[in-house]
Amino acid sequence: MKTETPIGHAPLPVIDMHTHLAGMGHGGTGCWVSPSKFNSPMFRAMRWMLGIYGAHRSEHLDQAYLELLDSEIRTAAANGALDAAVIYAHDRIYTETGDIQFSGQELYVPNDYVFTCAERESMRGRYLPAVSVHPYRRDAVAETERCIERGAVAMKWLPNSQCMDPGNSRCFAIYDLLAARKVPLIAHTGGEHTVSVIRPELGNPEALRPALDRGVTVIMAHSGTRSGLFDGHWLEEFCSLAREYPNCWGDTAAFCTPGRTRWIPRMIKEQGVVEKLMHGSDYPVPVTAWFALGELGWKKVRELSSIPSVLERDVRIKREMGLPEAVFTNAARVLGAAALRRWGLKT
Ligand SMILES: [Zn+2]
Repeated sequence: MKTETPIGHAPLPVIDMHTHLAGMGHGGTGCWVSPSKFNSPMFRAMRWMLGIYGAHRSEHLDQAYLELLDSEIRTAAANGALDAAVIYAHDRIYTETGDIQFSGQELYVPNDYVFTCAERESMRGRYLPAVSVHPYRRDAVAETERCIERGAVAMKWLPNSQCMDPGNSRCFAIYDLLAARKVPLIAHTGGEHTVSVIRPELGNPEALRPALDRGVTVIMAHSGTRSGLFDGHWLEEFCSLAREYPNCWGDTAAFCTPGRTRWIPRMIKEQGVVEKLMHGSDYPVPVTAWFALGELGWKKVRELSSIPSVLERDVRIKREMGLPEAVFTNAARVLGAAALRRWGLKT
């Protein structure tokens, strides 16, 4: 969907700022999921909902997952809901001495796999690669530079699960590089349930102040919100940082889930903050309209629930709930025309 813009300017594309790649390494992708995570009730449920429950048995899970995501994006684009998606790599956990941590690894999606997916001619203009470089890696700066040269549109961190403390001085050289090259940092804030949380306190948006102070454009994934009953809840902290720093943004990832739908009406009232949100789905996290029943009513919820593409459904629920137009075009504003053009988006 292209939106109205002033005369003389190209329309801004609608970009899903937050989608995940995943796999088991089938077809040489290099992806990895720990056996305990892969067989956990949550991952079994997600594999079942995606329709790829048994795909690993014929060793084509990575391909089946990617085909699903491709078809989601094509459908959402054909129906005018979405133009492209930012796809995420996911680095391993490293210790402060720069070694791969022995225990607690659950997921790995290599940076090169994300580039390979975005570079396919068949999906040109639909994918934007976000890389993941753990700042404690000995080659963190070199790898970040390499990825920026190859066209990374953003850096993605999950501090409370990947055990990177954004206040650790090992991060500072990365911040300076990201700020100089105008590459945003997308950092998870708030609760996390897909992978295990090792350092819950790092879900606090305040932990990212050192990156903001060094001039990095920071997109706080989930905007500090609570999802589960026992999560930390840092929406207030996110709102005050968003008001204080022009370079602080948030995303709406997983806002159409049972734990987070309640935050949409609240965010809409936060003047000076809602304008700094950008759309993200958190694919493959399931999307539902049913927790917006109070706001939207039975008929509308049923109508939205019948939309087959979850990426399209996510956009339409958020629009119906009243998130302003800027939320859907802010990703294009923040990533910038040069990054979009490099990956084949028309601007
Ligand atoms: Zn996510």
